[in-house]
Amino acid sequence: MIILDNISKKYQNRDKSWFTAVEPTHLTIEQGEIFGLMGYSGAGKSTLLRLINLLERPDTGKVLIDKQDLTAMNEAQLRQARQQIGMVFQQFNLLSNRTVAENVAFPLEIAGWQPEKIAPRVAECLEIVGLTERAGHYPAQLSGGQKQRVGIARALAPNPSVILADEPTSALDPITTRSVLACLKEINERFNVTIVMVTHEMSVIRKLCHRTALLHQGKLLEVAEVKDGVILA
Ligand code: ADP
Ligand code: ADP
Repeated sequence: MIILDNISKKYQNRDKSWFTAVEPTHLTIEQGEIFGLMGYSGAGKSTLLRLINLLERPDTGKVLIDKQDLTAMNEAQLRQARQQIGMVFQQFNLLSNRTVAENVAFPLEIAGWQPEKIAPRVAECLEIVGLTERAGHYPAQLSGGQKQRVGIARALAPNPSVILADEPTSALDPITTRSVLACLKEINERFNVTIVMVTHEMSVIRKLCHRTALLHQGKLLEVAEVKDGVILA
């Protein structure tokens, strides 16, 4: 479970005045939920997402994930806790000089997994996202949708309880978008991974999310359930 308790974030402008990107926000997201953050460009979606794993430090409030208070942790503890939180990016952020398998192995190497455990886990994750045949390819040899599925496999590799996805399909066409959404859905259903996703695409919310919130000028305006592709406002 993710609890955002009164978190907020301000940025300082060049003229030293302050700009509030995220107003004090309360939100609870259950384990196994797919939660969509929706809103126009500049609404604060990305900032709110990055506050969840403390890529941005909140100015106020607490972030609790599985009862652990991330905001009370030192850097070493936070690095440990972040292994429970995978991240998927709009532009995939793959390492271009590493193969697909090496990209997926990367977070496991960083986390200090025993070398003999890395290859089987990479193979497992590539199978889950349907890219076993591409293990030896480089990112430049893949379609956008395939690149994003590598990004998802990489996020999944350390066995996270949460995946944060920032506009995961915004760089993709409708067909590959479908394959990426199916992949996220399967991971959610098979492994009960909580997914928090930022998107400006209503169709993505309808297809994938259990609940959604609309963010406007840094404020969460309303939280709604999504049932059978309908947003129940
Ligand atoms: P969204 O993801 O909804 O497009 P963002 O969270 O990226 O919105 O940004 C919200 C606002 O905060 C924007 O006006 C953006 O320019 C500003 N912002 C985001 N990050 C920073 C930063 N590091 N420094 C200053 N302003 C920022
Ligand atoms: P994307 O378009 O992929 O969402 P953004 O342009 O929103 O990426 O942000 C990319 C990075 O730049 C993020 O780390 C964000 O916090 C930072 N950023 C966004 N807006 C600003 C800004 N006005 N000033 C400084 N940093 C910003």
